[in-house]
Amino acid sequence: MTKYIISIDLGGTNLRIGLFDQKIKLKDKLSLNTKRFASKWGLIQSIIDSIKLIIKKNKLSNDNISGVGVGLPGPTDYASGIVYFFPNIPGWRNVNLKKILTSKLNFKFYFENDANLMTLAEYKIGAAAGYKNGMGITLGTGVGGGVIINGELFRGSKFAAGEIGHLPINEKGPSCNCGGRACIEIYVGNQRILNKAKRVFKKEISLEDLSRFAARGNLKAVKIWRDVGERLGIALAGAVNLLNPDFIVVGGGVSRAGKILFDTLRRTVKKRAMIVQGNHVKIIKAKLGVDAGIIGAAILVKQRGAI
Ligand SMILES: [Zn+2]
Repeated sequence: MTKYIISIDLGGTNLRIGLFDQKIKLKDKLSLNTKRFASKWGLIQSIIDSIKLIIKKNKLSNDNISGVGVGLPGPTDYASGIVYFFPNIPGWRNVNLKKILTSKLNFKFYFENDANLMTLAEYKIGAAAGYKNGMGITLGTGVGGGVIINGELFRGSKFAAGEIGHLPINEKGPSCNCGGRACIEIYVGNQRILNKAKRVFKKEISLEDLSRFAARGNLKAVKIWRDVGERLGIALAGAVNLLNPDFIVVGGGVSRAGKILFDTLRRTVKKRAMIVQGNHVKIIKAKLGVDAGIIGAAILVKQRGAI
């Protein structure tokens, strides 16, 4: 019987679900808006419904599914399936998601932080394929990160490593959703960029427009992206000194700002990191786009031996 993997990428605004074959080839995918699920239970039910839906839509039975990989937007104990908390979705604290899902559906479930999965996907089959040590960073509402050491995800003692977005960059500063203060996420997250753009242009302006203006040479827009690149570059220079990575792969919506952002990032990291590490590291743009999370979740299931 042909076996398939189901992948889920749960975000604050979208739930993506994918069906993969054993070679991690995407066979089908669906996406649904999760903004309407105010409660934790609504979100859990939507996971269950979307699994059933993709099986039915592809005329498969439960026996065809070798495992389900789930990417989650916060620190998660990947071994036990306990969600510690989601910084940007309220109501989740120490939730045993594995227990809940296996009580409803008879599958093998595997869990991982979504930024770790994006990093894993880009490292295995995306922009960072062929390297050995590196980091992934996703720029969006939140700033997520993952670390690859000697070809493996580095998870840390409580499986919460890689939170690059929560490197503090100032002694004092605004408090962060993570409980800390002056984290890089506060300075380069979507909301901060949008607020700044509104102040500078004296009207609401989307990130897409801000990128377009900058590409056309609008100096105010260029300055906003340069500030983002410099701030982020300073934080990444610290991470580069610590880990001496081959690559940093940058993805997420804000990374679409393109050349101005990447040029500034590269220049700042090179200027601010120590010479050996700064000269060696390659800062590259992610290439798997919004599918990176579901691809990573499928790779996770395969790595855990469920196929
Ligand atoms: Zn933080």
